[in-house]
Amino acid sequence: MSEKKVNTDILIPSELLPKDGRFGSGPSKVRREAVEALLARSGDFLGTSHRQKTVKSVVGELRRGLSDLFILPDGYEVVLGNGGSTYFWDTAVFSLIERKSQHLSFGEFSAKFAASAKAAPFIEDPMIIKSEPGTHPEAVADSSIDLYGLTHNETSTGVAMTINRPIGAKGLVAVDATSGAAGLAVDPLEFDCYYFAPQKAFASDGGLWFALMSPAAVERVGEIKASGRYIPPALDLSIAIDNSRLDQTYNTPALATIFLMNNQVQWMLANGGIDFTTKRCATSSATLYSWAEASSYATPFVQDEEMRSKVVVTIDLDDAIDATVVASTLRKNGVVDTEPYRKLGRNQLRVAVFPAVEPADVEALVACIDYVVENL
Ligand SMILES: *Cc1c(COP(=O)(O)O)cnc(C)c1O
Repeated sequence: MSEKKVNTDILIPSELLPKDGRFGSGPSKVRREAVEALLARSGDFLGTSHRQKTVKSVVGELRRGLSDLFILPDGYEVVLGNGGSTYFWDTAVFSLIERKSQHLSFGEFSAKFAASAKAAPFIEDPMIIKSEPGTHPEAVADSSIDLYGLTHNETSTGVAMTINRPIGAKGLVAVDATSGAAGLAVDPLEFDCYYFAPQKAFASDGGLWFALMSPAAVERVGEIKASGRYIPPALDLSIAIDNSRLDQTYNTPALATIFLMNNQVQWMLANGGIDFTTKRCATSSATLYSWAEASSYATPFVQDEEMRSKVVVTIDLDDAIDATVVASTLRKNGVVDTEPYRKLGRNQLRVAVFPAVEPADVEALVACIDYVVENL
């Protein structure tokens, strides 16, 4: 760190500021239009029964919308339940892993599913393949493995991986797509279970999980259930599947969250679907990576361009510039949540560019960062 006293009272000129200053990795920017649409339905949707048509029709529209967005093949189902992606890990441990799983562990989130599987007494210890932060390992087919746990986008480090079935693998492929879904391209034939939550690319709030499930995954759930394993009802995927088919959840969901997520999915579809969303994220992330590469004080944290995430961009700063001060100065100016993942411990900015974020706002962000650094 330089001896020079830093100026923490920087006022960024208003013409440089983004129109919307939310760049968080989750909860992330919620579009104002969605909130206004919710307000318009506050009298007849909010505060009504989730077992009646008013709410069920929105859940149904959302399930069909996700199916359309991901262009799901025949037989794939959209399943939902309460608890967010973290609950889905435990759900998968109870209802999807038959005997033994393999996990790619390359950051805070991917490590957690592996830990859940390891802690479960009724299955074997998982096979865990690790790699250094900023990279991802590859899955390796193994005849003892009945579920491969991949992560589309490791939100803690900004590393993304292409989703492919491991060559020669017989087990199910389950993908944590919490931050990757809708921002990164995926071929549904390459997964059996692709799960996520509403507070990232779907521009809503947390607390629910969604899983796109192949017929093989649904069949596995039935087989484990029939085997007599004890499964807590709230973590029982067979109960979630039964309820989802009726456009319901096992217990009461957050109606506002469902409404906002459906509004976002319909917005994505109206603008061109997955092609629109993935291109938008590619454009926004390219703005940040090319700026960092050209900058004298910033560099992309992820070295391998193939692994660089198009939804969560991590940028290391030169040691002479304190990233904490940059992020907090941006925050004082209304540009929020560019802090790095707390446990990664790097001198870094982390910027989420989910589909709701305007590419023009990402250009403005870059100008704001330069302005702050020049004036520190
Ligand atoms: C945010 C995130 C989670 C956790 O989601 P919750 O809904 O808070 O449980 C899990 N995995 C990844 C990759 C994430 O980005």
